[in-house]
Amino acid sequence: MFGAMNQMGRNGDIGTLERWLTGPRVARLPVADAGDAPPLLSFEFFPPSTPALEAQLWACIRRLEPLAPRFVSVTYGAGGSTQARTHATVERLVRETSLVPAAHLTCVGARREAVDAVAAAYWEAGVRHIVALRGDVPGGGDYAPAEGGYAYAADLVAGLLRVAPFEITVAAYPETHPTAASPDADLDNLRRKLDAGATRAITQYFFDTDVYLRFLDRCLAAGITAPIVPGIMPVSNFAQAKKFSAACGASVPDWMARLFEGTENDPETRRMVAAVVAAEQVRLLQASGVDEFHFYTLNRPDLTYAIAHILGVRPKE
Ligand SMILES: Cc1cc2nc3c(=O)[nH]c(=O)nc-3n(C[C@H](O)[C@H](O)[C@H](O)COP(=O)(O)OP(=O)(O)OC[C@H]3O[C@@H](n4cnc5c(N)ncnc54)[C@H](O)[C@@H]3O)c2cc1C
Repeated sequence: MFGAMNQMGRNGDIGTLERWLTGPRVARLPVADAGDAPPLLSFEFFPPSTPALEAQLWACIRRLEPLAPRFVSVTYGAGGSTQARTHATVERLVRETSLVPAAHLTCVGARREAVDAVAAAYWEAGVRHIVALRGDVPGGGDYAPAEGGYAYAADLVAGLLRVAPFEITVAAYPETHPTAASPDADLDNLRRKLDAGATRAITQYFFDTDVYLRFLDRCLAAGITAPIVPGIMPVSNFAQAKKFSAACGASVPDWMARLFEGTENDPETRRMVAAVVAAEQVRLLQASGVDEFHFYTLNRPDLTYAIAHILGVRPKE
């Protein structure tokens, strides 16, 4: 009786081993072959607002520095003190590290001359790469261009190149920017930013690989050939990520909610689940041919470091 049941398997049709062996085959780890060049990475940090956060940021920078990313970027908020912290962080990166910094710069709430002056100061300090963004209204609300300001990121790209020959990166939205008139209008906007002189886009984060790959198909069909680098957000606090995603138009798939379910009070398991989710995401992208990745580190190095390791990136002497 036992033998017969085992033979039939739980589904009653084929044997268990046979069932185990008929599933889809997925690529083994690592996806890249030993001789393949490791992917190019970049890391995003945010400027710290307290001495404790500053110490955390610099510990994160020092941990990730040996991975020799192509560049590291520092976000830019609204308001004088936040912006001053971005400048201070970027300038310290130039002075004290081997890293190549990219400073984020936005259009929100500033006249063109003020934005141009910030860009000129960066150039003077040796910064050659800007991530050019429109930015959002602090505290939410509808965006309106500042009087005498750059209205959209495409205008900012053109303005920056009048200041100096910066390398310029812009933002792209695989799931369409939340306030875009339509997906096609948003794609036209991305093309305008690249036509204005940006040479790369980094995407808003996404969790379903297909969403990104379908977006690349649309970019290519629209004649865009610049790299649209996937923005990877290793999520360790699922509840917080879900809240944040709703605001920035990144969808959180049901499968991800199910994976994190029950880990609310179990940070250790949550971190392991988070590592698997992010590693699986980059592995699928790498298997699809993508070899450039941008990590939203949230100033925490561990997940980013581990995932970079899985991708074949090792510390340089
Ligand atoms: C990689 C990345 C980094 C980011 N870093 C920061 C940061 O450091 N600081 C920060 O404040 N925010 C940052 N953001 C958020 C970003 O500022 C917001 O998503 C913002 O709402 C849009 O910025 P954008 O540069 O994509 O805008 P844009 O490209 O200007 O587009 C904004 C919206 O306006 C529409 N649009 C563009 N041109 C026109 C036009 N002529 N007429 C009508 N509609 C138009 C677009 O379709 C889109 O819906 C970042 C986002 C990403 C993806």
